[in-house]
Amino acid sequence: MELPLIPGRECGPCVECCRFIPLDLPELSKPTGRLCGYCVDGAGCSVHAVRPQTCRTWFCVWRVVELDTAWRPDVSGIIVRPDGLLTGEMTLYVVRRTEFLRSDLLFDTVAQWLGEGLRIAISVPGPVGTLPVRADVTEFLLPAVGAGDEAGFVARVEAVLASLDAHEFEADGIEERYSVV
Ligand code: SF4
Ligand code: SF4
Repeated sequence: MELPLIPGRECGPCVECCRFIPLDLPELSKPTGRLCGYCVDGAGCSVHAVRPQTCRTWFCVWRVVELDTAWRPDVSGIIVRPDGLLTGEMTLYVVRRTEFLRSDLLFDTVAQWLGEGLRIAISVPGPVGTLPVRADVTEFLLPAVGAGDEAGFVARVEAVLASLDAHEFEADGIEERYSVV
């Protein structure tokens, strides 16, 4: 999916999609949770000029929607997936647990999205080489958000994460292969 990017906004040191999004392409395949072999951690793609088309067109929501820098995935620990943008769903792919999960900013942003009628899903990666799991949590979060109950919201987010963590993760079946260069 090709989305218009926010002018001037760069990934900077973030490489979280190159780590947590699985790729299964003819020229590049890597399991979920393993940093791409072409990626320099904290710096970016070492084959930028010849990277696969998928890498050219896939961007997280932080690159396409005005969100605070604190939302950048390497800072927040959350990749907001772009998949549901056109259908009105925000998927928070929680790849690392940080203080951001207890922040006013997360509460306020999710409250704003829910107020706009968007649906919210939470997803987590499992061990390296397994498919992420996700759950639509719109109805579960709404009572706390509607009541302005930030502590209740945080408790519900933590309960969702605990429940997803307990899931039986399915192998993604992707074998690592690098032939871009
Ligand atoms: S997760 Fe987003 S900000 Fe981070 S490298 Fe990927 S597109 Fe850039
Ligand atoms: S080829 Fe480059 S952009 Fe694509 S996953 Fe690997 S490091 Fe990231």
